[in-house]
Amino acid sequence: MENKKIGIIGAGTSGLLACKYMLSKGFDPVVFEARSGVGGQWIKTVETTKLQSPRPWYQFSDFPWPSSVTEDFPTQHQVFDYIQSNAQHFDLIKHIRFNTKVISIEYDHHHQGLSDDELEMFRSWKLWNGDGQPFQGEGKWKVFVEDTLNNSNEVHKVDFVILCVGRFSDVPNIPKFPLKKGPKAFHGKVIHSMDYAAMDYQSAANFVKGKRVTVAGSESLHLTLQWRLENPCRVLYQSEYWNVPDYHPWGFPLAFLYFNRFSELLRWGFSKFVESYINKKHRLAKYGMVPKHSFLQEISSCTPAIVPEKFYDKVEEGSIILKKSQSFSFCKEGILLDGGEEATTTPLKTDLVILATGFRGDKKLKDIFVSQTFQDFMAGSPSETG
Ligand SMILES: Cc1cc2nc3c(=O)[nH]c(=O)nc-3n(C[C@H](O)[C@H](O)[C@H](O)COP(=O)(O)OP(=O)(O)OC[C@H]3O[C@@H](n4cnc5c(N)ncnc54)[C@H](O)[C@@H]3O)c2cc1C
Repeated sequence: MENKKIGIIGAGTSGLLACKYMLSKGFDPVVFEARSGVGGQWIKTVETTKLQSPRPWYQFSDFPWPSSVTEDFPTQHQVFDYIQSNAQHFDLIKHIRFNTKVISIEYDHHHQGLSDDELEMFRSWKLWNGDGQPFQGEGKWKVFVEDTLNNSNEVHKVDFVILCVGRFSDVPNIPKFPLKKGPKAFHGKVIHSMDYAAMDYQSAANFVKGKRVTVAGSESLHLTLQWRLENPCRVLYQSEYWNVPDYHPWGFPLAFLYFNRFSELLRWGFSKFVESYINKKHRLAKYGMVPKHSFLQEISSCTPAIVPEKFYDKVEEGSIILKKSQSFSFCKEGILLDGGEEATTTPLKTDLVILATGFRGDKKLKDIFVSQTFQDFMAGSPSETG
């Protein structure tokens, strides 16, 4: 086992953890990372990004946060520094090949009689799932990489591959639009939030300056907050969520109300209590933002996010305008809301549309395999978002 070579793709938190674990088991891991440093998502985000989980819940079990970080919701820079110091502390950097993008992976074998796809399935996937023997096959995985600094290509051979490519980056989820009603029909600019987040802070500020901006999708809350726009910003959303003002509204974590044995009997009551608290605090009824589902459902599916500070103050003062719509399309001057109560026939005039519509993590996984068989193993809905 000791000589087995493990290829890990990605040096975000998942890849770093996989690398540390493989080392602890005596394997020889090599991490392929397309970027020039560790940290994945946390290397660069929009300026106002903070951790959404409370800090104690987002901690390496063997590497606590430094005492200098006292915030419940550390900033992007603090999270990034924390992940980076974890990699340094466990001496993982020397196992990482930076600026090395994995283009594809393929199982390499020497067997006669079976098709390539059948062999791939038989030799690796099936055995891994069937009897738990990851190294039963005689073949190796070929990892095709591109050195992004000098555009050269290489092939590495490893015994096992761990995919840690992340779900919320690289492949944007772009909604489908009716014929001739997509971004091309619009005379303004359309970008995905991924490209906006990649800009340096000054360029990002200049980009929205003086424009009428519309943000569509689930990440809108955070984007809009950093702007001081001359014109109100429209936010398009599909559904209401129980986004919480704070995880410790009464001095202890909200989730404590749900995830202890005593509370099992009382969850419904707690749910109503929290709903009423959030509703009152954010004046949700006034803005038509009361969710149809319960807070209990929200927290059970781990979806509640923290509402950025002062978000609803901006709604109150009119600098953020909320518009509910199941779908929208483009026309020359702006966008048309296609469904629901807010459906429009006259366009909402706008200069810039930012699609905060999430990512296609499923597609990213599928596309890394050369073999169609493996691609087909990857489940995922076409509407998967971040
Ligand atoms: C704004 C934001 C806020 C978030 N807040 C929270 C939170 O509060 N709590 C929480 O639990 N989670 C949060 N998340 C989720 C976040 O995804 C995780 O915290 C964590 O960063 C995921 O780590 P990862 O290693 O799985 O993926 P990533 O951080 O995405 O890392 C993947 C790495 O793989 C590399 N890679 C991808 N494809 C290739 C390839 N083909 N070749 C080589 N390298 C490749 C990428 O360059 C990247 O470095 C947040 C995400 C975002 C975007």
